[in-house]
Amino acid sequence: MTNGEYDVVVVGGSAAGLSGALNLARARRSVAVVDSGDPRNAPAGGVHNYLGREGTPPSELTAVGRAEITGYGAVVLEGTVSTVTRDDDGRFLVSLADGGSLLARRVLAASGARDVLPDIPGLARYWGKDVLHCPYCHGWEVRDRPIGILARDLETGVHQALMWRQWSEDIVLFLHTSGEPGGAQAQQLAARGIRVVAGEVTAVEGQSRLTGLRLASGEAVQRQALVIAAPVHARAAYLADLGIKPVEQFVGEQLIGTAVPAADPTGATTVPGVYAAGNMVIPMMQVIGAAAAGLAAGAAINADLIAEETERAVEASLSRRAQP
Ligand SMILES: Cc1cc2nc3c(=O)[nH]c(=O)nc-3n(C[C@H](O)[C@H](O)[C@H](O)COP(=O)(O)OP(=O)(O)OC[C@H]3O[C@@H](n4cnc5c(N)ncnc54)[C@H](O)[C@@H]3O)c2cc1C
Repeated sequence: MTNGEYDVVVVGGSAAGLSGALNLARARRSVAVVDSGDPRNAPAGGVHNYLGREGTPPSELTAVGRAEITGYGAVVLEGTVSTVTRDDDGRFLVSLADGGSLLARRVLAASGARDVLPDIPGLARYWGKDVLHCPYCHGWEVRDRPIGILARDLETGVHQALMWRQWSEDIVLFLHTSGEPGGAQAQQLAARGIRVVAGEVTAVEGQSRLTGLRLASGEAVQRQALVIAAPVHARAAYLADLGIKPVEQFVGEQLIGTAVPAADPTGATTVPGVYAAGNMVIPMMQVIGAAAAGLAAGAAINADLIAEETERAVEASLSRRAQP
């Protein structure tokens, strides 16, 4: 027994998944969205650079999206998808961690990605509020404040320091475990007035807000925000039985995370009938981009279903004509 059969089951009910579901529901497809309720930007106070809804809290944006899709007949189920397999009829069996299951003709995977934070005491507590990764998401909110950059490696650290200098004149680059800048890098940092602090960072300190960093030497450096470079890994374990596995992503030689490979911009994966959209395909994608990717995948899935239905209709009509 399953909990229902749908044209499309969408895994993940945030920007990418809800946008895909909206397009599909408006195309008169039966759609179920299964969502575990912890989108990547959940700790942030607002979604920025989302035209028309600037600064809306993430939970409000998804609540509005849910209301919009259910208005067109889509179903939202709170739960976690544990596996997706194929049955003998070619349909997808979507199994949930609570023991339930759904049948689907197509699957849209929109389950996002997870940031793997540096293992420094105190750091995780401020994630998404005072510990930041993206200047376009948070730069305006910390403009003109004392900002620290935690170098993951020298090249990334220098890049981030020069970038965040656009939002504040008070930038400190903490070398942490990376080497010393020299040559052109040292010249660029000095020219932009960026202070460089050597030594391993052993703690991020503060009370309700971050107030500074502690170094292995015991020295404390006051800061109000800390920028990190965290690898971002696709949340795709439930696709493993279908043979879909995230692959490592690099910028230059730097590993930036893992992502599910998509065969084309519609999000078609290597498995026919399974599409993927949003951060699980492109880790650096922002909310408006994830919504656009979900929209495109929804249209591609609808076209795929129309092609299948047309083929079946032609077969049925030919077999009717062949009958005496
Ligand atoms: C701290 C922070 C702040 C950010 N701020 C901004 C910002 O201001 N502006 C901006 O444009 N971008 C911002 N981003 C980026 C933004 O989070 C992503 O672009 C966006 O979340 C990607 O949307 P998505 O739908 O692909 O994935 P997500 O939003 O991560 O949604 C994935 C959904 O799938 C669900 N899910 C996962 N696994 C399963 C499963 N197995 N079964 C069922 N459901 C599952 C999750 O619970 C989640 O609801 C920020 C990121 C971070 C980390």
